[in-house]
Amino acid sequence: MAHSEEQAVVPCAFIRQNSGNSISLDFEPDTEYQFVEQLEERYKCAFCHSVLHNPHQTGCGHRFCQHCILSLRELNSVPICPVDKEVIKPQEVFKDNCCKREVLNLHVYCKNAPGCNARIILGRFQDHLQHCSFQAVPCPNQSCREAMLRKDVKEHLSAYCRFREEKCLYCKRDIVVTNLQDHEENSCPAYPVSCPNKCVQTIPRAGVKEHLTVCPEAEQDCPFKHYGCTVKGKRGNLQEHERAALQDHMLLVLEKNFQLEQQISDLYQSLEQKESKIQQLAGTVKEVRERA
Ligand SMILES: [Zn+2]
Ligand SMILES: [Zn+2]
Ligand SMILES: [Zn+2]
Ligand SMILES: [Zn+2]
Ligand SMILES: [Zn+2]
Ligand SMILES: [Zn+2]
Ligand SMILES: [Zn+2]
Repeated sequence: MAHSEEQAVVPCAFIRQNSGNSISLDFEPDTEYQFVEQLEERYKCAFCHSVLHNPHQTGCGHRFCQHCILSLRELNSVPICPVDKEVIKPQEVFKDNCCKREVLNLHVYCKNAPGCNARIILGRFQDHLQHCSFQAVPCPNQSCREAMLRKDVKEHLSAYCRFREEKCLYCKRDIVVTNLQDHEENSCPAYPVSCPNKCVQTIPRAGVKEHLTVCPEAEQDCPFKHYGCTVKGKRGNLQEHERAALQDHMLLVLEKNFQLEQQISDLYQSLEQKESKIQQLAGTVKEVRERA
C-alpha cells in the first residue's frame, strides 16, 4: 500500500541523512497537502502557518519559510517575530537544513486519493504526480488533447480517441479513424468498387482503368471503324457482329481499296505531266546553249 519512496524519518541531530538524495527534493509552497500524520507545530511556519518551505530559524527560536521571513523584512524595517514580538535580527537568522530535511521526508497522501493510494514523502510529491496513474493528463494526440487519467490514456488511444489512427483494411495504410469512412469511399486505392459497366466483377479502385480494357461489358468500336463501320458494342456482341457483317465489312474494304487505286492513278498522271514538263524545259535549255 505504501509507496516505494517511503523512508524512515531519522532524527537528524545525530545521523546524517542521505543528503545527496535530498538535494533534488522540493515541494510547491501554497498548496494544500494531506499529511499522513497530523502536521506537528514545529513544522509549521510562524507567519503563514503552512508547512515550512525552506525553513529559516530566528534568534528567538521560531521557524519561518524563506519567503515569509523575506516578506516580514519587506513589511517592516525592524521585523518583529509574530509569536513573541521579539525583534528579528538578520545576523541571528539561519537556514534550518535539519528541519528542512525532516519536512521533505514527511509523508503525504497523493492529491489524487482515494483513486491513488500512494503515500509519498513531501519532497517527492511533484515527482510522483509525473507518474501517478490517477493524474489528469491531456491525450498525447495533438489534435485531441482530451483530458483523462494517465491510466486511461492507453485504452483511449487504442479504442476511443477520435484522432487515433487505424490500419485501412484494404490498403493497410494508417488513417485517422474519423477520416476512415471518407478514405474508403473516396480515395482508398485498394477499396473494392463495382465495375462502371456493371459487369459482375469488383475491382480495386486503382485497377478500374486497366479493367475497362478487358471488361466484357465495355463498349468498343468495331475493328472495321477505320473502313467506315460505325457499329459499337460490348466485347462479346462485337465478335458476333464481325461474323454477321462479314460481307458489309468486305464491301467497306473494297470501297477503300477502290479509293486508294483512284488516288494512285491520279498521282501517276500528275507524275507523268511533270515528267514531260521537265523534258520540255530540258529541250529549251539545250537550244539556248547552242545559240550562245
Ligand atoms: Zn511561511
Ligand atoms: Zn519568536
Ligand atoms: Zn498518485
Ligand atoms: Zn485523444
Ligand atoms: Zn485504404
Ligand atoms: Zn467490368
Ligand atoms: Zn463492323
